[in-house]
Amino acid sequence: MKRLIWLLPVFTLLLCGCQPKSATRQFFAMDTVMSITAYGETADQALAAAVNRINELERVLSRTREGSEIYELNRWGNAEIGQDTCRILSLALEWTHRTGGAFDITVAPVSAAWGFSGDGDHQIPSDGEINELLSLVDSSAVILNQDSVQLQKEGMEIDLGGIAKGYASGQAEQILRENGVKSALLDLGGNITLIGSKPDGSAWRIAVQDPCSSSETVGTLSLTDCSAVTSGAYQRFFQQDGVTYHHIIDPATGYPAEKGLLCVTAVCSDPTLADILSTALFVMGEDSALDLWRAEGGFELVLVTDDRRLIVTEGLKDLFEENASCGYTLEYAKK
Ligand code: AMP
Ligand code: MG
Repeated sequence: MKRLIWLLPVFTLLLCGCQPKSATRQFFAMDTVMSITAYGETADQALAAAVNRINELERVLSRTREGSEIYELNRWGNAEIGQDTCRILSLALEWTHRTGGAFDITVAPVSAAWGFSGDGDHQIPSDGEINELLSLVDSSAVILNQDSVQLQKEGMEIDLGGIAKGYASGQAEQILRENGVKSALLDLGGNITLIGSKPDGSAWRIAVQDPCSSSETVGTLSLTDCSAVTSGAYQRFFQQDGVTYHHIIDPATGYPAEKGLLCVTAVCSDPTLADILSTALFVMGEDSALDLWRAEGGFELVLVTDDRRLIVTEGLKDLFEENASCGYTLEYAKK
């Protein structure tokens, strides 16, 4: 009997060890489906706080929601802003500079002309219209102060679609950590952020989708404590006369970026940066993307090219497992 009494707590402990307390919330925000799973005793309350924070950010950053700071800014050309908008705008402007203009939130009027903003129908704008709208794509005309922002050109608009989910991931991650969560997977519409490792101590396995087939992967990343964000031509597009037009606009041309990449996955400890980089490097193309990777450091990449190459930067060499049947030629990029 004594032995049985000893065994009981051990058995209970083992059971708890196998199935740690967890909570999952799936919800719609920022125009996409989001899902967060957190583990640990505080998972429930931490998750509720994280979801509240994401909803709060959407109310401030949405370009389509009347009354949001960005909506007001686009409508009036100036707006009072809080800390979040200030931080996100400041990061966006900094990275416009660091990516040679490839990442540019003032691309909004051009995106709108293609029908990629809001619920508008998709269409191919005329060259004349694109050229006219390109004069409004100018981040140097965004005057940012701590509590206000001004767009200097009449008709300018901004769109945080290439950065907001990353920023929201970072805020949600911080709240989960502050609430004691040591293991979680955040999936904000494909923007993946990982806290710690899986509850069993192993790395999270994150599949990288084959841009040419929604049911296939090009490989799997084994990751802990970082973010992995993918931008791809296949994520939002329309087709006309057999040509595909996608949602990531090259600010230099006003056309969907065509630099030989089908998708870019950026892996980085900072989710906002991963989001910025995946969009920007898609616009920049393979050579400039790898040049920036060599120059900046602090992030790693998986690139899929339109000539069926799979380029993995060397920091991911031991973390990336190729899907042998994916049909791409694997190359490792060196510093
Ligand atoms: P992502 O899915 O993070 O690559 O972001 C794509 C979204 O960012 C688009 O749907 C637009 O809202 C916006 N966007 C498009 N082109 C650019 C660009 N060159 N720089 C910054 N944001 C962009
Ligand atoms: Mg992005």
